[in-house]
Formats: sequence, structure tokens, C-alpha cells
Amino acid sequence: MATYYVTKVRKQSVMNKDGNTHEHIIGVVTKLGAFYTNKEVVDSLDAGHEWYTEVEKEPKAKIKKKGYCPKSDCYHNPYLTTDPDHTTKNNLENLPRG
Ligand SMILES: [Zn+2]
Repeated sequence: MATYYVTKVRKQSVMNKDGNTHEHIIGVVTKLGAFYTNKEVVDSLDAGHEWYTEVEKEPKAKIKKKGYCPKSDCYHNPYLTTDPDHTTKNNLENLPRG
């Protein structure tokens, strides 16, 4: 089994039916510079591989699958999240863009 370290996220801006826009994660970029879509990460998790965020001086946060984008009225899926811990700097949503 492989372990992947994610250093950047790719987000896309979308408009809801109510006209409000938000950004959601469409994929991640690993430390080695490879881009993976949410679906590819979920398939990899399902296959038993492990994914973590990597932020300098922060603990690594385990990436998990989540059904849908957390914004209401958005059905973008699958989605990715990280376990909350004592810091938010390693949250997937807070990684730099890549
Ligand atoms: Zn969304």
C-alpha cells in the first residue's frame, strides 16, 4: 500500500441556484507534483492507500472521503475532508492552491 502526501488543493468556483458563489475542491496536488481528482483520491482510499496533508511544522492530517461538498445546495461529489485536530493549518480546505 502506498502513502500519498498532499501539499496543494485545486478549487473551482461555482454558482449555486440562489446566485451565490462558493469554491470547492476538485482535486489535490501531491508533494511530487502530480494532480489527482477527488474521484481518483477516493478510489485510491477505497483500494486501501493512505492520503495525508503535509504542511511544514504541522502534524499530518489524514484525508478521508466525504459524500458531497459541504455547502448546501451543492451536490459536487465525491468530496474530500481531513480529520479535525488542534490546528486548522493542515486542513485540506486551507492548503495553498496548486
Ligand atoms: Zn460545492
